[in-house]
Amino acid sequence: MDLLVKNAKLWRDGVVRDLHISDGKFVEQGVADGAEVIDAAGRLCVAGFIEPHIHLDKALINDDVRRNVSGTLDEAIEIIWERKRAYTVGEIAERAGRVIRSALGNGVTRIRSHVDIDNIGGLRPLEGVAEARRRYSEVMDIQIVAFPQEGILKNEGTEELMWQAMESGADVVGGMPFNEKHPQDSAKHISIAFEIAKHFNVDIDMHVDETDDSGARTLEMLAEQTIEHGWEGRVTAGHTCALAGYQEDYANYVIKLVRAAGIHMITNPATNLMLQGRLDAQPKRRGITRVKELLAESINVSFGQDCVKDTFYPFGRVDPLEVGLIAAHAAHMSLPEEIEIVFDMQTNAAAKVMRLSDYGFEPGCKADLVILDAENAAEALTRQAARRVVIKKGRVIVENEKNQKWCWSPKGE
Ligand SMILES: [Zn+2]
Repeated sequence: MDLLVKNAKLWRDGVVRDLHISDGKFVEQGVADGAEVIDAAGRLCVAGFIEPHIHLDKALINDDVRRNVSGTLDEAIEIIWERKRAYTVGEIAERAGRVIRSALGNGVTRIRSHVDIDNIGGLRPLEGVAEARRRYSEVMDIQIVAFPQEGILKNEGTEELMWQAMESGADVVGGMPFNEKHPQDSAKHISIAFEIAKHFNVDIDMHVDETDDSGARTLEMLAEQTIEHGWEGRVTAGHTCALAGYQEDYANYVIKLVRAAGIHMITNPATNLMLQGRLDAQPKRRGITRVKELLAESINVSFGQDCVKDTFYPFGRVDPLEVGLIAAHAAHMSLPEEIEIVFDMQTNAAAKVMRLSDYGFEPGCKADLVILDAENAAEALTRQAARRVVIKKGRVIVENEKNQKWCWSPKGE
């Protein structure tokens, strides 16, 4: 089925032009007669928002579990154990499906989800999210990361489960090297991840130093091993909160190493503003990594929602405009060009994290498109602009015609 989207203002070059879509892809021009026509009327269009870091398996469990009283990461993880034992594949798929729908309504057309792999839930989180992926395969592209949240060495049997997870449909090898007993075990945790990734020839995406402890050193370890294994450009580090607390000289050293390793960075400002700095006296740390310093070194930086109504974070609806606004505040991104970078983080930068070769408006790319009720990125973030139309693979999936109607006007206007 062909589709013609007229008068689309493309982010980020700002050019207004017609987009031709045929067979689920953008084409140079020449859609068939009788093609469906949509007039974007000069509105801002993105080639689909991308959510590169989320946990679909534990989303929406907040109401079923006891409260996270300390508000810390450690307590959030502990609370999940009991709930995880009760997981079934069906209910995980159902919760994940609700989150996928929410994301899609907000213009997200691709997702990378971590799923817990440990001896508590076994492979059920993977199986549940894989089932949701199957159900939504026509409208959402999903990559799954096998995530050993409880550690690999610390949690008996997890190494074997990681191998099984990769054989059972996970796409990316995850990790949480700081959650081991000793730094030597953290290094070993990373080595195991590389062994698995090399065997399956896949990428790595780890939770790195998600802690206020500035003694955490696993970002340095990950960067060193990335270079050692020749995996440059294929590794992502999420969170990296500790980097924010390092002394300047060590932080600069690690950032240079991250650059040399071609590591992609993901900050999760909503969750980490909520979790980090809980035990600080004032001034409390902001909890997010050194976004601007990383960008200044031309390192690819993206951001994610991370958590949706789970033990870590009580909000979240997978709206990149919401998380983008939070990211702009948390990372002090206020200049016009910095606001454009925020937009880049949820589109092109996230596509680089997921190493997508079919993202964008170029002919041959998958025809994912969101028409925003805004003229530019700053306006879209300010007004949390409505997603007027969401198109996935050339097909209109969501329409939002809601217009505010005022029945009053000021005198003299
Ligand atoms: Zn996460």
